[in-house]
Amino acid sequence: MKEAQQFVTGHGRAIYSFPVQSFANLVNNIYLIAGDEGWILVDCGSGLEQANADLLAGFTAVTSQFTPVSLSDIRHILITHGHIDHFGGLPFVRQHTDAPIGVHVLDRRVLSNHEERAVFASRRVAQFLESAGVSEEHQQQLMQVYLFAKRYYQSVPVQFLLEEGQPTVSGIQVFHTPGHCSGQVCLLVDDVLLTADHILARITPHQAPESITQSTGLGHYLDSLRKIEQIPGINLGLGGHEEPMRDVYGRIQAIRHAHQERLDKIMDICRARKSIADISRDLFGKVESYHVLLALEEAGAHVEYLYQRGELVAANLDEIEQTSHPVVLYQRL
Ligand SMILES: [Zn+2]
Ligand SMILES: [Zn+2]
Repeated sequence: MKEAQQFVTGHGRAIYSFPVQSFANLVNNIYLIAGDEGWILVDCGSGLEQANADLLAGFTAVTSQFTPVSLSDIRHILITHGHIDHFGGLPFVRQHTDAPIGVHVLDRRVLSNHEERAVFASRRVAQFLESAGVSEEHQQQLMQVYLFAKRYYQSVPVQFLLEEGQPTVSGIQVFHTPGHCSGQVCLLVDDVLLTADHILARITPHQAPESITQSTGLGHYLDSLRKIEQIPGINLGLGGHEEPMRDVYGRIQAIRHAHQERLDKIMDICRARKSIADISRDLFGKVESYHVLLALEEAGAHVEYLYQRGELVAANLDEIEQTSHPVVLYQRL
């Protein structure tokens, strides 16, 4: 039996949480909020069989430990961002409830027009891998991995939008925090912030270059950290993964520090001419399967940030000018 947890806000509102196994190595936190207009579900797991089973088990756990609730009692569904581990369960949830689905406008088409979006996104990933200096054979393997998760989900319509500064259900405040994902939002429930994947307790949330998806990228992400830092009085942070955070502000500082260290390391690596694939290997060593793509994107996001700010320059301009599919080599000024 899964264990559920209960958190109580400064205004006495209850938030329930339970884990679902989204993928073999990834656990997501699902949140249930007792709202004025009925139950609110925040995120719903990946939609794979285990995740759907865990979702049902989570409702059973909340019922037996705290208060009766089932999927059919849900009145609103809030999706924190357009990553499959957070919204992939929507077609399954739809079988139990007609509750309207809300998401930030920049991630709406990821949910509602998924098939088209996957085609465009994979083109951009392919271009990124090519200019990063990944071999053609390896590119094809990585694209297969990338497209796996994109294939089993079927689009669902979105009924309302989560907009910063606009009222949403039960007085929950929306903060748009682009970076980890274009439509990433954090949700403030009284003094408790649902940080989704913007701020996590242990890992620094994954970054990818905005050359793949607009409104992502490290520059936007760091701006969004600052935005959350300026909200006074957050007493608890609840992430989309990992454990609760008592000190959200301290965690923001630690994450910012980790990125600065990574940027410094890249400046050091780029004393010699390096491709993004070289830099990724130097930073993360040898990694396997999906983690290769994550490492390349992470390195790419940091290189892009430094390049945009004129700290790194392209070192092989002639080649870039004269060939149709160049690998870009970077070097520090
Ligand atoms: Zn995410
Ligand atoms: Zn996630």
